[in-house]
Amino acid sequence: MRLVMLGAPGSGKGTQAERLSKKYGIPQISTGELFRSLRKGEQLPGMSLPQEVIDEISSLINNGCFVSDDITIQVIENRIALPDCENGFILDGFPRNIPQGEALDALLKKHSIHLDAVLEIDVPDDAIVDRLSGRRYCPACGRTYHLDAKMPTEEERATCPEGCRNLIQRDDDKPEVVKKRLVTYHDVTEHLKPYYKEQGKLITVVGRKKLEKTIRDVDRALESIEKNRIEA
Ligand code: AMP
Repeated sequence: MRLVMLGAPGSGKGTQAERLSKKYGIPQISTGELFRSLRKGEQLPGMSLPQEVIDEISSLINNGCFVSDDITIQVIENRIALPDCENGFILDGFPRNIPQGEALDALLKKHSIHLDAVLEIDVPDDAIVDRLSGRRYCPACGRTYHLDAKMPTEEERATCPEGCRNLIQRDDDKPEVVKKRLVTYHDVTEHLKPYYKEQGKLITVVGRKKLEKTIRDVDRALESIEKNRIEA
C-alpha cells in the first residue's frame, strides 16, 4: 500500500498515518519528523547534511515556513529508496505543494511504482486551532500526544528512552505560528486536492471529534483500495 496523507497541520493525519503504518506493516514517513530529528543532532537515513543547512532547516520549521523543495524532495527520494519501503509507505506531510507533488510522481515513475490513494483528513480551521493548543511532543522518542485525547500508553512509555516523561509543545504549535501554517495550507497545499482528484486518487474523510469515528471512516475508505490492490 502506498499512501499520501493530506490535511492541515493538526488535522490528525499523523495519528492516522501512525496507526495505518502498524496496520499495514509499512513505514510512516513524516518529513516534519525527519526534519525535527535533524534538530536533535541525528542524521537523515541515507544522507548527511552540513550543519549550516541543518541550522537553516531548524529556523524554518520553528517559524512555520517550508523547507526548500530541493532538500525536501532529496530527503524523500533517499528515504523511499530504503529496503523497508519495498512493500509500501505512508507519506505524512509530503507533498505539500504542486512542485513536490510533481516531483513525487516523477520519482514513482522512475521506480515503476504507483500511489494507491491520497487520503485527506478534512477538519475546520477553528477545530484545528483548539486541537493544536493541546498537542504535545516527546523529544526523546518523537511521538506526538494530546493533553485531552491521546496521552502515552504504558507500551509507548516502555519503548521511549525517557518514558515520555517530558512532553513539550512544539514552537510551531503556538497559536500565532499555527495561524500562519493554516494560511499556507489553504494557499499552497490545498492545490494538491484538485491535482490528485484529477488523477482519481483523492479520498476525503471528515476528521471528527471522536477519534474512533475517524478511524472507522478511514478504515472503510481504505477497504476498497486495499481490495483492489490485492486483486490487481
Ligand atoms: P509537520 O510535522 O508535518 O507539521 O512539519 C513541520 C514543519 O516541517 C513544517 O512546518 C515545515 O517547516 C517542515 N516541513 C515538513 N514537511 C515539509 C515539506 N513537505 N515541505 C517543506 N517543509 C516541510
